[in-house]
Amino acid sequence: MKKPAIIPRAYQQMLLDYGRRLLRDGLTTGTGGNLSVALRAQNIIAITPSGIDYDRLKIDDISLIDCDGLRLAGEKPSSEWHLHAALYQKRPEINAVVHTHSRFATTLALLHKPLPACHYLIGVAGCKEIRVAPYATFGTPELAEKTVTALGSNDRCILMANHGLIAIGSELEQAYNTALYIEEVAELYHRALTIGNPVILSDKEMEEALIRFQSYGRSAQITNAGTAPATQTGLFSPQISTLIRTFSCFFKPKITCKVLMRGQVPQPKQGLAARTQGHFRWSQISALIRTFSCFKTRK
Ligand code: 13P
Ligand code: ZN
Repeated sequence: MKKPAIIPRAYQQMLLDYGRRLLRDGLTTGTGGNLSVALRAQNIIAITPSGIDYDRLKIDDISLIDCDGLRLAGEKPSSEWHLHAALYQKRPEINAVVHTHSRFATTLALLHKPLPACHYLIGVAGCKEIRVAPYATFGTPELAEKTVTALGSNDRCILMANHGLIAIGSELEQAYNTALYIEEVAELYHRALTIGNPVILSDKEMEEALIRFQSYGRSAQITNAGTAPATQTGLFSPQISTLIRTFSCFFKPKITCKVLMRGQVPQPKQGLAARTQGHFRWSQISALIRTFSCFKTRK
């Protein structure tokens, strides 16, 4: 088995953490659903393994595969790797995929019923309703093809007929939150249907909501038009992060801070506050902590 030059541990850890969140947030049962992150600079996809309970997963179980599904490390990749790989190929702006069998979204998927704009939160998925992709057997290239085609080039979430839901995002946090919010809206819709006829927002009302979403919180970093804000989930490529970690004990903390700051990818139309708050990733913060602790021990 060919090993990647640098083991992307931070990404594997992130998938482990979000896998446990799937259970905690009630988005899955047992081994249902799967998560992945694309390390585009290295042509690697980190993906949850097939058929292992999220609460039993260990970091080394997380699979690393190439775009053709060749396993580079970890356990056997999710049976849905075709779907994940096809999404990364079709949507160059995304770096994370979340697939769930969450109850209320899947209830609608069983009925082949789209989730309409009964709540403005539908807009987190960048569209005015969550449509349903046609059915195909799980784990097949056919399912990948049908789902990717139905999702199109703008939407960030779709129901999968008689199966579940797929959410995508520029990073795992965004894809995960989309899956979480859409499940919440699906539940509200279901509850509303049991006591009456929910009022559906008009096209114009949803268009206004979608405009507001473009500047709402961290989603200000999200673009849909195929322009990638960054080509990887972290601010630095894993190679650069490793270099920073390796040499950080030789730097004075101030210099390392400057290196980190300079590494920021400025986003268009972003204010200074968003730039300074929104762009620190865990890998950077831990590099920073390590730098400071090395400095302290060398004194
Ligand atoms: P995996 O355990 O292979 O990821 O399969 C779960 C699933 O949801 C299949 O669609
Ligand atoms: Zn599934």
